[in-house]
Amino acid sequence: MSVHGIGMTSQRARARMLENLKAQGIADPLVLAAMQAIPRHPFLEESIQQRAYDETPLPIGQGQTISSPYIVARACELVCRGHTLERVLEIGGGCGYQAAVLSRLAREVLSLERIAKLVGKARQTLRELRINNVLIKNVDGSFGYPAAAPYDAIIVAAAMPYIPEELTRQLKPGGRLVAPVGAGDSQRLVMIEAGPEGACTRQELEAVKFVPLLSGVT
Ligand code: SAH
Repeated sequence: MSVHGIGMTSQRARARMLENLKAQGIADPLVLAAMQAIPRHPFLEESIQQRAYDETPLPIGQGQTISSPYIVARACELVCRGHTLERVLEIGGGCGYQAAVLSRLAREVLSLERIAKLVGKARQTLRELRINNVLIKNVDGSFGYPAAAPYDAIIVAAAMPYIPEELTRQLKPGGRLVAPVGAGDSQRLVMIEAGPEGACTRQELEAVKFVPLLSGVT
C-alpha cells in the first residue's frame, strides 16, 4: 500500500471530491477542511486507488466497504455542529478512513472493529499517515465501549436493527449519535441527541445503505 502513489491524479481528484461534497450540501468548514486534509487512497488496495475520490463506496476486503465520501462527511457534520469535539466513538472502523477524518475533528477517537485483519491494516495506514489520536480496538462494538464513555459523539458505520439504550447512555449531555438503522434496502440514518437530563431526542434522516452490524469478533 502506498501513501504517495498516485500523484497529481490524486490532487485533481481530491479537489473534485471537495466540490462534490459542497454541491451535495456539506457546508461545515471544519468538516470540509478535514475531508481535504485526509487522503483517501492510502486506505484502499492499489488496484482501486484510482477510484478513491469518486462518490462511491468501495471494497476494503473481508466483504466490507469504505463508505462514500459524502456519507462520511455527512455523519461528521451532523455530530460536530461547527466545533471540535473532545472524544468520539466510531463503531465499525473498517479501513480507518472515517476515523482518520474524525482525528481532525476530535481530540481523541476510539474506533471499534470486529474483524482483526481490517484492524491490522487500518492501524498500519494510520501510522503511515502519522495520525496518533486514533485508537482502534478489535472488539464487537454493538453496545459501544462503556469503559471509555462518555463521548461527545458516537458514529455507527454499520446498519443496526435498532439503537440500544446502552449506547445512547454513553453520550455526554448534548452529545449526538448517528447510526444507520434498518436492514437491507430499508435503512435510514437516525440521529439521537442526549438532553441535559439524560432524555434523548430522535430524528429520522435520509435513506442510506450500509453493511450490516454483525456480532462477535473474528
Ligand atoms: N467507517 C468505515 C466503514 C466500514 S464498513 C471506513 O471508513 O472504512 C463497516 C464496518 O463495520 C465493517 O468493517 C464491519 O466489519 C464493521 N462491523 C460490523 N459489525 C460490527 C460490530 N458489531 N462491531 C464492530 N465493528 C463492526
